[in-house]
This record gives sequence, structure tokens and C-alpha cells, in this order.
Amino acid sequence: MIDSDTALPERLARAITLAGPIPLAQFMAAANTHYYATRDPLGTRGDFTTAPEISQMFGELIGAWLTDIWDRAGRPATRCVEFGPGRGTLAKDALRAMAKAGLTPPVHFVETSPVLRDAQAEAVPDAEWSLDLVGVEDDAPLLVVANEFFDAMPIRQLVKTEEGWRERLVACQDTLFLPVTGDRGFDQIIPHHLRSAPSGSILETSPATLAILRALAARLLAQGGAALIIDYGHEGPAIGDTLQAVRGHEYANPFDAPGEADLTAHVDFAMIRDAAELEGLTVHGPVTQGAFLTALGIGARAEALSRAQPERADSIEVDRDRLIGGEAMGELFKVIALTAPGWPVPAGFA
Ligand code: SAH
Repeated sequence: MIDSDTALPERLARAITLAGPIPLAQFMAAANTHYYATRDPLGTRGDFTTAPEISQMFGELIGAWLTDIWDRAGRPATRCVEFGPGRGTLAKDALRAMAKAGLTPPVHFVETSPVLRDAQAEAVPDAEWSLDLVGVEDDAPLLVVANEFFDAMPIRQLVKTEEGWRERLVACQDTLFLPVTGDRGFDQIIPHHLRSAPSGSILETSPATLAILRALAARLLAQGGAALIIDYGHEGPAIGDTLQAVRGHEYANPFDAPGEADLTAHVDFAMIRDAAELEGLTVHGPVTQGAFLTALGIGARAEALSRAQPERADSIEVDRDRLIGGEAMGELFKVIALTAPGWPVPAGFA
């Protein structure tokens, strides 16, 4: 047996050699599970930097958003849930802002990585952890946040060929992984308007994202509450290959060294919107991260921070521009909110 986690490429190669090429989603799931389980990927010395790691303003404004909707919902007892909290920085900053307004809910982190759970425990010592929503108590409305979580969910890719739509699979020669086109036809599940797309077109779906959304919707419908989802992606439906690997802040080949780079894909916000509406939730947005943070008052927050720490004014301005600038995260990143029936319209989506 070579089932040690250090031998992921060998394990994948053996599985492919024995049973044939595997779906991209299976490759991506195995690679990301290993990747997140074995390191803290965040920050300048890691592989990538996220909004809460850029500035405390990000988590604080999300805390203000949560406080506002909770307040207008009549200040019920609630539970806070974050999916994939990374180092716990967003939660720490949000909870500090929330506590000032009297909102101090129990905190639940949905996280698979033991390394990141340790970091989260430093940031939010009282949190509870589980692998999915099943571990979250069902006795109160939920306030849910997911930042750069869904982009790490495995995707399937369908490719248009001369013979019709096929699935993109991952094959292996020795220990070299490469994408290949499967034999099975998928035309029957392709939306009508895409069936005649030109050869080479790629259509992405994320069954894992849909499964999590359905579970989340069931909870919000039963318990009440709101969810805020932030990620980079498009308002689709879009055709194109958005699979990417990032390692040491550089793009890498997604098929090289599985488990050693962060594999992500653009989040399809139209799919999230449609799925959430189908389940009976009310959907707000998507809007761009720039528009959202501006509406929540990032300008005033940056000015207040600069007044308190004049020596940091320049870097606070740079951080604000990274979060909202069109060339930085402001346009590519989108924000969507899902609310239970009867919950107020959340801030930031006017
Ligand atoms: N939200 C954080 C971290 C983003 S990185 C931030 O903005 O900084 C993605 C996070 O999702 C990590 O914490 C990772 O361990 C977690 N994660 C990835 N796949 C997961 C899964 N299937 N279930 C739960 N958590 C997962």
C-alpha cells in the first residue's frame, strides 16, 4: 500500500493506470484535499493572498453587514457559520465589529484542513468545527459567510468535439498527468442554446457547489437566516476553461504536481442564483466586490483607520484600492446574498 499522503501523485497514477482516466472533479478533489490538509497556503510566504489577509477592513465590513441584517431581523438568537475560514482572520475581524454592536453568536467553522483548524483556533478560540453543515445545530437562524471557498470546489468540464459534447478526463503517462477527452456523449445534458457551440468550447459545472448550496438552502429555509458568498467568478452562463493552479503567487500547470498547488475555477454566480431561487431562497446580487464594499462604507472606514494611525495612511489607501479597484479585486470578485423568506433585504445590493 502506498496510501501515505505524501504519495498523492503515485496514488492517482496507480488508480488511473488500473481503471482508466478519471473525471477532472475527482482529480481536483484529491489534489485540493491534500493541498489544504498539508499547509497554510495564505499570505506573502504562501501561495496566494485573500481579501481578509489584505486588510482588517474586509472582515469588519462583513461584520457590519451581518450585524445590520440581524438587527433589522429583530435581533434573534443566531449562530454564525463560516465555510473554509482559512486563518480565521475574516471571522476575528467580523466578530470584533459585531461584538461592539451587541452581536455575539456561537461560531461554527466548516473546515477540512487540520493545519488551518489550528490557525482558526488561535484566531477564534471558542469556535466549533465540523466537516459540513450536518454538524451545525439547527436551533436558531444562521448567519453564513463563505469567502474564496467555492472557487476551491471541484469542477467537471465538458468539451465540445466534432462528435458532440464529451467529458474532460485526466489521464496519466508514467507520473505525468494530462487532460484527455472521454468517449461518452453528454449532449443530452447540455442546455439547448449551447449544443451547437464551436468545437473546443468548454462548459464547467460544479456538482459539489450545488450539493452544498442545497444543504445550505434547506437549513436557511428551516431555521431562517442569511448567507453571504464572495468569490471571483462570472455571472455566466459562460463557456470557457477557468481551471487554474497557483503556486508561490504564480500560475502553474494544473496537471503538474497534484496536491502542491491551489486548484481553483471561476465561480458561476448565475448557477448559484438559479439553484438558490429554485430552493426557495431570495437572492440579492451578484454585485461586484468593489460596489459592495463601497456601499458598505469602506471609504469612511479607511479614513477612520488613517486618522487613528496617520503613519499607516498610505498603506491603508493601497489596501482599500486592492479590495475595490477594478484592476485588482474590485471587478473580478462578486458578492451574492441568499436570505430566508421573511428576512430583510441585506445592505450593499441596492
Ligand atoms: N476564507 C479564507 C480562506 C480561503 S482558502 C480567506 O478568505 O482567507 C479556502 C478555504 O477552504 C481553506 O480554509 C480550506 O482549507 C477550505 N476548504 C477547501 N475545501 C474544503 C472543503 N471541501 N470543505 C471544507 N473546507 C474546505
